[in-house]
Amino acid sequence: MTCLFCDKIFKKEDIIYENETVVALYDQYPVSKGHVLIVPKRHIQTYFDASFTEKTDVDQAIMTLKTMLDATYHPDGYNIGINNGIASGQSIMHLHVHLIPRYVGDTLNPKGGVRGVIPGKQSY
Ligand SMILES: [Zn+2]
Repeated sequence: MTCLFCDKIFKKEDIIYENETVVALYDQYPVSKGHVLIVPKRHIQTYFDASFTEKTDVDQAIMTLKTMLDATYHPDGYNIGINNGIASGQSIMHLHVHLIPRYVGDTLNPKGGVRGVIPGKQSY
């Protein structure tokens, strides 16, 4: 079976951060400047398949990358998101955590944030 992320994990030029169990790379189709994906080295499908160590390493990656992104892009906020399963919108069946820098004015009304995964349910 071919997996986009299993292939990318071994392309060192794409990797912007790495620890024991996860790597990070810029999203190929960024929704904002600095949109990063954090990807476990082990092929697992969802967050619920991750080990405690992998979850801890994801968190370490998020914190380190936030510092890097703050210094480079100076965002005003962040969304952190995971699509788990086809019904949620997952399209690459290898766990990846989106770390999405947000900027004041990047959308007309950001209120509700990740609630927008179901269009029409974001505003309340
Ligand atoms: Zn994979």
